[in-house]
Amino acid sequence: MLKVVKFGGSSMADAGQYRKIRDIILDDPARQVVVVSAAGKRFSDDHKITDLLYLCHAHSQYGVDCNRVFDMIKSRYQEIRADLGITVEIDDELDALKRRLDKKAISQDELASRGEYFSAKLMAAYLGFKFVDSADWVFFKMDGTVDKEKSYAALKELAAGESVVIPGFYGKMPDGNIKTFTRGGSDITGALAAAALDADIYENWTDVSGILMADPRIVENPETIPEVTYDELRELSYSGAQVLHEGTIFPVREKSIPLNIRNTNAPADAGTMIKEGFDTPVNPDRFITGITGKKNFSIISISKRGLSNEVGTLRKILTVLERHNISVDYVPNGIDNVSVVLETDALTPNLYDVLQEIQAEVNPDTVDVHDQIAVVAAVGRHMAGRPGISGKLFAALGEAGINIRMINQGPDELNIIFGVSNDDFAQAIRVLYNSFAK
Ligand code: ASP
Repeated sequence: MLKVVKFGGSSMADAGQYRKIRDIILDDPARQVVVVSAAGKRFSDDHKITDLLYLCHAHSQYGVDCNRVFDMIKSRYQEIRADLGITVEIDDELDALKRRLDKKAISQDELASRGEYFSAKLMAAYLGFKFVDSADWVFFKMDGTVDKEKSYAALKELAAGESVVIPGFYGKMPDGNIKTFTRGGSDITGALAAAALDADIYENWTDVSGILMADPRIVENPETIPEVTYDELRELSYSGAQVLHEGTIFPVREKSIPLNIRNTNAPADAGTMIKEGFDTPVNPDRFITGITGKKNFSIISISKRGLSNEVGTLRKILTVLERHNISVDYVPNGIDNVSVVLETDALTPNLYDVLQEIQAEVNPDTVDVHDQIAVVAAVGRHMAGRPGISGKLFAALGEAGINIRMINQGPDELNIIFGVSNDDFAQAIRVLYNSFAK
């Protein structure tokens, strides 16, 4: 049995958190591969080390000294080391890093990656595990994607039969330069390590006890989702839930490795289990897995008499949007009307060009733009094939006086998506949660 365990920034924030991690590791001998983030915030006004590193790089680019910021980074790691009473040499490396920074001789990616690097050095010393540098096994291709075959083979060799600590977030380009993933990318490193080593499970330890059924800023004390499928998670994240870095699922899913989100501060909680599928539902009466959504969409509504008999109109509309590099989220349509739903921020800079081009190419009777639209998604694998679900949802929303502006359901029946006015967004989520998720 092998478990790859990844600890996020808040789990690495100070020596107290390191101690919790050690207890978690000691609790289960299968937890042999540990992937770590840079130190995160210890309290709400605190700074993440990664943010400070980016800040330092920006300073150096403008020729402004960043001594104070760099000292904050340095002392953070030195404090953790002192508190844990371990001896591991990081001072010379930190000083060398500062010299390179002062000479503008370090790339932004390499500097940003050092947060994870020093975290892993300290954690390896503290646990007595071997340090495996991600520059020695996460290999990027020239196009910026990970060369999985080469990377997996390298990690297999480096970690064979040993307990290791690995820094998240970065790897090496073919030219030898360090490259980071996008922010939050240590999740991906953990997923790659799990896939490389054919782990039995990938545990992603954070500061919440799993994925919540709804945004806690909207719903008071929402329940945790005990089990969610990869497909549902994709829907939930796409529609707004902030869970894992979006590149995380792919490597583990390819190898059918379950992913378990756990809480470093509440290790007894089971968290959320993410898998391809589950045998029996935890709660057979519950058909909604989670409710999420996003505000600030626009609907462009195009009407033309006889539109339904025309060929190619939709393509023309989508081509206009493609030309402006605007991604379309939903395309609800009527008989002689078709609408496109897209993010307002993406549309605004090109709004008049887009409208004028649609006018010229489609020659519609009317084109209207509706702003301030929120999209809400009720996601759940148990909705499929069960008649009456959408009736129940919309009845509850109707009773609460919420006007539905758009409805969308895919044939896989994994979600029901609808548009409401921004003002009704929070209320719509609360109504669904209180009616069906509790
Ligand atoms: N430390 C990086 C960040 O703050 C990567 C990570 O924590 O996943 O984005």
